[in-house]
Amino acid sequence: SFATGTRGCSDARPPLRAAANSRNAITESTLTAPTASVRGVHATDGDVDIIADAARALIADDDHAARAALAPIAGQTIVTHPVVAASQRPGRYPVGAGVQTRSPSRSVMGAVYRRDRFTCVYCARRTVVLPVLGLVSELLPAEFPWHPNWRRDVTHRFYWDLSTTLEHVEAVSTGGDWQAERNLVTACARCQYQKGNRSVADPGWQIRRTTASWDGLTALLPELWQRAGRPARMAAWVAEYQRRPH
Ligand SMILES: [Zn+2]
Repeated sequence: SFATGTRGCSDARPPLRAAANSRNAITESTLTAPTASVRGVHATDGDVDIIADAARALIADDDHAARAALAPIAGQTIVTHPVVAASQRPGRYPVGAGVQTRSPSRSVMGAVYRRDRFTCVYCARRTVVLPVLGLVSELLPAEFPWHPNWRRDVTHRFYWDLSTTLEHVEAVSTGGDWQAERNLVTACARCQYQKGNRSVADPGWQIRRTTASWDGLTALLPELWQRAGRPARMAAWVAEYQRRPH
C-alpha cells in the first residue's frame, strides 16, 4: 500500500480514488481557491518546468542549483497554496456503490500513461510521474516535502495538482471496469480529485487528446534514481518507464 515507506515515495499509488470517495478525506474546499476562476491552461503548468530544472540539477550533483530552481514554489502545500479549481467545474458528486477499487498492473498503468503522453485528458496540462517527484522529495525534503499519507500540511502542493494519476473514465463505484485500458485515462491529480465519481457524460469533463510530446519527466528517472542511491522500492517503476511504445 501507499503507506509503507517512511520517507520518499513508495512505488505504489496513493489511494486517490479511495480518498475521492471518502466523505472526510478530500473536500472541494481543500482543492479549490475560492476566488479563482481559471480557464484553459492552468497558471501552475509552469511548475512542471521548475521540477524538470530541479531534477536536472540534482542529476548534475548541483544541489545549490536545484534549490534555486525550486525556490519559487519551495515548501508550498495545499494549506498555504490551495489548488485552483479546474476550468471544468463539477457539480455534485454522485453517490457510488462503495465498490473498492484497486490499482491495475504497473504495465497497464505505464501503457495508459504513454498512450496519453503523460498529459491530463481533461485539462491538457503536462503531468510528472510520482517516482520523479518522490526522488526530488527524497533529495530535497525541505524544499519539496512529501508525507507517506499525503498529509496536506506537509506534502508539497505539486503532488495534489500535477502528479500523474490513473483515472477511471467510468468510476468503479458506479460500474466502471477497474483494469480495462479502455476505461482508463491519464489525469492530473487536480482533475482526478475534482472529477470524483462523475461520468465523462457530465458537462465539462470531456476527454481531449493531445498531440504534444511529453514524457512525464520519465527520461530523467534513471539518472535521478542513481543519484538517490537506487532505492529498491522504485526499481520496478524505473524499469517500467524505460519501456517504449511499440
Ligand atoms: Zn487535469
